[in-house]
Amino acid sequence: NLTARLDKAMKSLKGEGKITEVNVATTIKEIRRALVDADVDYKVAKTVTDEIKEEAYGRDVLIAVKPGELFTKIVYDKLTALMGGEKKEMNLSGNPSIILVAGLNGAGKTTFTAKLANHLKKQNRQVLLAACDIYRPAAIEQLQTLAGQIDVEVYAEPENKNPIQIAENAVKYGKENGKKVIIIDTAGRLAIDESLMKEIEEIKRVLNPTETLFVVDAMTGQDAVTTAKIFNDRINYDGVVLTKLDGDSRGGAALSIRRVVDKPIKFIGTSEKMDGIDAFHPDRMAQRILGMGDVLSLVDRMQQAYDEDEARRINKKIRKNQFDFNDFISQIEQIKKMGNIKDLVGMLPGIGSKLKDFQIDDDAFRPIEAIINSMTDHEKANPDVLDGSRRRRLAAGSGRTIQEVNNLIKQFGEMRKMMRKMNQFQGAGGSKKLAK
Ligand code: GDP
Ligand code: MG
Repeated sequence: NLTARLDKAMKSLKGEGKITEVNVATTIKEIRRALVDADVDYKVAKTVTDEIKEEAYGRDVLIAVKPGELFTKIVYDKLTALMGGEKKEMNLSGNPSIILVAGLNGAGKTTFTAKLANHLKKQNRQVLLAACDIYRPAAIEQLQTLAGQIDVEVYAEPENKNPIQIAENAVKYGKENGKKVIIIDTAGRLAIDESLMKEIEEIKRVLNPTETLFVVDAMTGQDAVTTAKIFNDRINYDGVVLTKLDGDSRGGAALSIRRVVDKPIKFIGTSEKMDGIDAFHPDRMAQRILGMGDVLSLVDRMQQAYDEDEARRINKKIRKNQFDFNDFISQIEQIKKMGNIKDLVGMLPGIGSKLKDFQIDDDAFRPIEAIINSMTDHEKANPDVLDGSRRRRLAAGSGRTIQEVNNLIKQFGEMRKMMRKMNQFQGAGGSKKLAK
């Protein structure tokens, strides 16, 4: 996978050792290969790595104090920029706002439609879904079932065979019933065909939606980019939704789409479930690709659904490099409350990749909690004091082995290192500090 490949490519530079021109050139070549293997369009991969090279030499990476970190920073910045730099919000200005959802069959439109409704509902918006896929058998029922799970209303006309009419009627119904956002789920096709394109063009022209979102399956790699381009040429959509980023998608689509169609990715789909939706943050995606974890998205999700004050407090501590074992335990508590543990744990740097393949339930945290609960308050707040004898005491106190204790402390240390690195990269003076 891309993360592992890039990590390997940069490993030689990450050490403290000397770095040479040959080193940098080889690494850049490796990065290019990793990107292409991850389905990044070849031309995009070439341009990007050329830019990385230029930047690396331009900033004297060879004589920098921490060349590996500077280099990582350059790659990180480049990937972030490639994916659009800033996060782009969805336009919700209309009253009601009309969101048109388009894409191929199986891309995840219907699932996304419901997920987005769920997301907006949590922000206390009145949402209506319109079932305009009149072709696929049981398409209406699928939307109704999903909407039932999240308690959102669906407008449907099972007898009507004119999707444009249904969409118009849905908008009318939504206006009369005080809905603030109307999301239109449309029909896809197995492949792009002219009648589909005409239909979606026509729906767009008639409805004049506030926002048109193109949904595409990230697992389809290069095809995703091709489809994105064809749809954009026809309907000039406002944003992209990249689904199924939870599978073994190689992530390349996220990196190419912006360059190829110049439209922002606005959301990503991360599971089949109704909470498997995240706003797309180019910087976080770059962190994720570079193996820096996705703590910020995790914190975001915590903020959304659960104890906001607690999430904010932890976020602040992460930013101040003060994350300690109390925060760690509190995060575990939050994660347990949130369900969908496997998903979320996957976002924790260091821990994620190791636990990903295991069956995870609440019991998985028990040993960790036992060890942390054996710590004194002083130890929890100052993990650095945990020397050999204290660790032995923790093992005895928690009934765990000394290896387990050591592992936990080591992983925790790595997690803190990642957080510190993220903070450096994000702080305003970060790059300067690294360069000098
Ligand atoms: P549509 O034809 O575009 O409406 O696609 P659907 O919404 O019916 O989704 C097709 C399949 O993909 C369904 O089995 C969904 O559960 C699944 N799916 C959709 N989004 C995601 C996602 O983000 N992750 C995963 N793993 N599966 C997804
Ligand atoms: Mg559908």
